[in-house]
Amino acid sequence: MGDPKAFMTIPRHEAGLRPVYERICDFSEVEQTLSESERRKQASRCMDCGVPFCHWACPLGNKQPEWQDALYRGDWKFAWQLLSATNDFPEFTGRICPALCEKSCTLNHCIDAPVTIRENECSIVEKAFSEGYAVPRTWPRNGKKVAVIGGGPSGLSTAMRLNVLGYEVTVYDKMAKAGGLVRYGIPNFKLDKFIIDRRIQFMEDEGIHFVTDCFVDCAKALPEGYDAYVIATGTPVARDLKIPGRELDGIYFALQMLTQQNEILEGQKFADKDRVSAKGRKVLVIGGGDTGSDCIGTCHRQEAVSVTQIEILPKPPEGYNPATPWPAWPVILKTTTSHEEGCERRWCLTSNYFIGDENGRVKGVEVERVEWEPDPNGGRPQMKLTGEKEIIECDMVLLAMGFLRPEHPAYAENVFLAGDAKNGASLVVRAIASGRETARQVDEYLKGK
Ligand SMILES: Cc1cc2nc3c(=O)[nH]c(=O)nc-3n(C[C@H](O)[C@H](O)[C@H](O)COP(=O)(O)OP(=O)(O)OC[C@H]3O[C@@H](n4cnc5c(N)ncnc54)[C@H](O)[C@@H]3O)c2cc1C
Ligand code: SF4
Repeated sequence: MGDPKAFMTIPRHEAGLRPVYERICDFSEVEQTLSESERRKQASRCMDCGVPFCHWACPLGNKQPEWQDALYRGDWKFAWQLLSATNDFPEFTGRICPALCEKSCTLNHCIDAPVTIRENECSIVEKAFSEGYAVPRTWPRNGKKVAVIGGGPSGLSTAMRLNVLGYEVTVYDKMAKAGGLVRYGIPNFKLDKFIIDRRIQFMEDEGIHFVTDCFVDCAKALPEGYDAYVIATGTPVARDLKIPGRELDGIYFALQMLTQQNEILEGQKFADKDRVSAKGRKVLVIGGGDTGSDCIGTCHRQEAVSVTQIEILPKPPEGYNPATPWPAWPVILKTTTSHEEGCERRWCLTSNYFIGDENGRVKGVEVERVEWEPDPNGGRPQMKLTGEKEIIECDMVLLAMGFLRPEHPAYAENVFLAGDAKNGASLVVRAIASGRETARQVDEYLKGK
């Protein structure tokens, strides 16, 4: 432990965000960085608790107190060695993880000001790349081959781990580049795609092969010539809203817009008729989660006239929720950087039908207020319609209501699942953790053979 009293004298200091007026004019990352000395001061706030709840809360089991101490002492290289031992892609989680660890930090419990764990993580990995000690390595081959289907964070972490263990790994992906939802879903203002390109190059330099633009119909035929297979194909099917008027123009799944915007920023061209653009539109986002929030930020940057977000569930409590006490993840109102950029947010609304104009384009949605009543049998709360209806005017609708949990056939014993394909839609940190665990299972299986 570095400075045993720092948590009493040094306040939490976040790097902060670029001002709204500036950041909504481009797609660059909104989060800023601290100087090295400020970053080390922030690391010194870690109290090295006897029971580090941050470590318990992180699905990767990151050793936060140990790398905070190394960071405080200025030993960035050792901090990197500790961090990279448990996390294959801290440059992803350092930017977009909701930081489960920080909610469990003892300083969050005591003074509502946890250690800036996520930002510190990001600084460590960026320093490792800029100083040149995050360097690709190669390992002796063991003569066995593994195919990973799906190049999102879970497939990539499986590939990283298996490669270290000596397997020859090939990652197949249906898209033009690997990265999964981190590349094609999450907007650049949260994570610049250069970060993914750098990691893929690193993996190629370590000897991992990539076959892109290649759809694998896993249920029918897996590529031949491998000792084992990992299916890490994510959750490709978005939840639809099958109400009257769904066929109208101007209603899209969130990923239709987010993916296209990310592809445009990569230089891809689209004909005007194929563009999913919010420019000049009154946009309604249906769904109150992360995906909906990313739609809001993208709409601002595409120059929407207005953005409204509706959610069927009740508004979560603000600040503190007695139902989810520390060190558990707090179910409270989340206000993202995109919300801060401007948006009307409403809760307890269900959508009855879409209304179209004379050209067949959506011009509004009838919504109805709902109430949630506790289930007398102790189950999930029951939704009740109230009959209070209204029309929300809009000429573009984005459906951001989550993804269906994939179903898989009974595969042969040398086929393994990883990430969202296995567990349903989740978080990048959980996808990485799942990928690492799957690599362990594959290794155990192939060694047993
Ligand atoms: C808009 C949005 C924002 C999000 N924001 C965050 C966030 O801020 N923080 C966070 O932690 N999580 C966030 N998530 C969740 C996170 O992105 C996912 O949990 C994570 O990417 C899952 O990783 P995965 O590897 O399991 O699947 P995916 O990332 O979905 O990757 C699956 C890969 O498989 C490929 N594939 C699919 N089928 C085939 C096939 N048949 N053949 C070949 N390739 C195939 C796909 O092209 C893709 O590359 C967000 C998700 C979305 C949609
Ligand atoms: S991966 Fe997420 S939960 Fe784990 S230490 Fe990093 S920010 Fe915290």
